[in-house]
This record gives sequence, C-alpha cells and structure tokens, in this order.
Amino acid sequence: LEAKSINLVSLCENLFKQIKSAYKREINLHYQKQAISVLADEVKLKQAIIILIDNAIKYSTDTIDVYLTENEQLTIITVKDYGIGIPACEIENIFERFYRVDKARSRETGGTGLGLSIAKNIMKQHHGEIIVKSTEGVGTEVELFLPKQKGKVFE
Ligand code: ATP
Repeated sequence: LEAKSINLVSLCENLFKQIKSAYKREINLHYQKQAISVLADEVKLKQAIIILIDNAIKYSTDTIDVYLTENEQLTIITVKDYGIGIPACEIENIFERFYRVDKARSRETGGTGLGLSIAKNIMKQHHGEIIVKSTEGVGTEVELFLPKQKGKVFE
C-alpha cells in the first residue's frame, strides 16, 4: 500500500467536479474545515469513493450529500443519497462479490455487484471500516472510516 497524507477536501472537490459534469448530477460536499487529512493510498481511496458515488447516482435521482469529518482517531467520509434504499434483510449480503439486490430493479442500472466488495477490501487494506445504513424507499448512507496515523496502522 502506498500511503501518504492526502487532503480529502481538495481530493473530493476535484473528483466531484469531474463526476458532476460527466453525469449531470448534483453532489454537495460538506466539511468543517478546509484541510481534512487522511493517510491513504490515493488511487485506492479515490476508487472507493467513486464506487460509493457511482452507486448513489445509480440508485437515486436527487442531490447526493457527501460529509467529511474527523476526530482524533478517525477520518470519516459519508456518502448519503435519497434513493430507493436497501431492504434491511439485504444489508448483510451487499458486500459479497457479484451480489445485487433484486435483480429486476438492478438490471436497468447495470453493474456487476463487485463495487462494494472492492470498497470493503480497500478499507480493510487501510485498517478502516465501511458501514452501510439504509431505509428502503428513503435512502442510503455509506460511511468510510479511516484510522489516523498511529503506530502500525498500514500494512
Ligand atoms: P457495480 O459492481 O457496478 O458497483 P452494483 O452496484 O450492482 O454494481 P455493488 O456496488 O457491490 O454492485 O452493490 C451491491 C448491491 O447493493 C447493488 O446491486 C444494489 O442493489 C445495492 N446498493 C448499493 N448501493 C446502493 C445505494 N446507494 N442505494 C440502493 N442500493 C444500493
């Protein structure tokens, strides 16, 4: 893993500018301060964020909210959409490779069912965590937790 200190605010600003113009979707970025740093492999972290944004775009039609927060231990990236949501009984399955909720509703959006398993693997490599909270018909919130540099955090 090629970990270095990254400013999440500028990474997200640049990334969302590209995604917004390509997909014609609104992504609102929320943060408390201009510099929220994270120790991570930039390419992999970007990939994980893109997977979450891509899902939010596919499974909702409204604005997407992204929150960047940090405390002494963690940096947290939250991607929130107001779309179709995920049934409670499916949450445990969505990290499985090739798993897609309700083939009928997913078919029109395309996708392989690999996105979230890749994102989970990237978080594991960073000794982080990925958490999904969702309510069917209301929306979905996916959080990426990344530990701050402390001891042997990265492999
Ligand atoms: P891809 O591999 O192209 O991302 P995918 O979106 O089907 O395809 P995952 O990202 O692994 O695969 O997601 C697995 C399943 O979880 C999806 O098929 C979808 O049913 C559900 N899901 C994921 N994100 C959301 C979301 N934001 N809102 C609603 N359902 C979601």
